[in-house]
Amino acid sequence: MKKLVILGAGCAGTMMANKLRKDLDAEEWNITLIDKDNIHDYQPGYLFVPFDINTIKEIRKSKREFIGSGIDFVISKLINVDWDKQEVTTETQGSFKYDILVMSTGCDVKPEEVEGLGETWNKGGVHGFYRYDDCQELRTALKKFNGGKLVVNIAEMPIKCPVAPLEFAFLADWYFHERGIRDKVEIEFVTPLAGAFTKPVATRVLTSACEEKQIKIVPNFSLGAVDGEKKVISSYDGTEVNYDMLVSIPPNFGSDVMIDSGIADPMGYIPVDKHTLQPEGRDNVWVIGDGTNVPTSKAGAVAHFQADILHENILAYINGDEQHARSDGHAL
Ligand SMILES: Cc1cc2nc3c(=O)[nH]c(=O)nc-3n(C[C@H](O)[C@H](O)[C@H](O)COP(=O)(O)OP(=O)(O)OC[C@H]3O[C@@H](n4cnc5c(N)ncnc54)[C@H](O)[C@@H]3O)c2cc1C
Repeated sequence: MKKLVILGAGCAGTMMANKLRKDLDAEEWNITLIDKDNIHDYQPGYLFVPFDINTIKEIRKSKREFIGSGIDFVISKLINVDWDKQEVTTETQGSFKYDILVMSTGCDVKPEEVEGLGETWNKGGVHGFYRYDDCQELRTALKKFNGGKLVVNIAEMPIKCPVAPLEFAFLADWYFHERGIRDKVEIEFVTPLAGAFTKPVATRVLTSACEEKQIKIVPNFSLGAVDGEKKVISSYDGTEVNYDMLVSIPPNFGSDVMIDSGIADPMGYIPVDKHTLQPEGRDNVWVIGDGTNVPTSKAGAVAHFQADILHENILAYINGDEQHARSDGHAL
């Protein structure tokens, strides 16, 4: 029996397992999907929970619900990936050899990577919404916020769903209107980008939307430190912005296990060819989703299109055919 192993049963890994199971003969190919837990969060929902648009219950399901039959689902944290031995190791379920490896362990925020941010997280008006617990804490804090300056901040790029922070600022504008206190709240969008967004046309449209909603944009601000006592954030070049409530998107990192296994860059992202999504010199390994270093948005929509590329090329590899599919990073 040949072995196809998929690491991470999030958005990308689950898509790959389900797609490949349909095409690979179950007598010939075993598919194993490994994840540290059985919790599937609909991550875009984290944006809506703070404003009571989604309830926390609506956005959490079990991963098993989405995994088709004929796929072995192993729940255990990965602790090592060895491309030379063609083997991955888990904390409690032993090691797994593979003939083909698909890697999709995503990325996550690390507030502790910014001076003062880890210490103040979910305390004294410092919040975020990129994780399950955080978006609930923020919901509670927003309800108690009756006026002052709300700063929505991106610490640094890349982050997953780069438009989500701006969406948050727009939703905050709506939310405070609904509560009848918009005139008591200043909203400031503090970003490391040169403007509201990455691309010129989107930036133009979004800048004028910010103007209409009286959201001030502070560009070119790379977060260096948070002073929770003074309620001030400062950038590496010394620019300071004060806040009453800070909603920050901390630096995003790939999974630690990839750094520990010596196959990722210092941010935990796995270097791959941006068109084939394969690490150099590894014919039987593909990386998909937020965990790569490709210069595209980290988004489920991107992973969805990458999955088509991997699907086609992995089947071609198995059949000994040429691999024609090429990723161009698009999300639409
Ligand atoms: C607030 C917010 C809003 C968003 N909005 C959108 C949107 O509107 N549109 C859009 O397209 N995308 C959006 N996204 C991004 C989208 O959710 C991600 O890009 C997508 O989930 C990436 O899929 P992935 O499979 O690469 O990673 P994930 O879905 O994060 O899955 C990674 C999996 O790997 C597992 N894993 C990690 N490390 C280990 C380990 N050591 N051992 C075992 N398992 C491990 C995790 O448990 C997880 O299940 C949003 C994200 C956020 C946070």
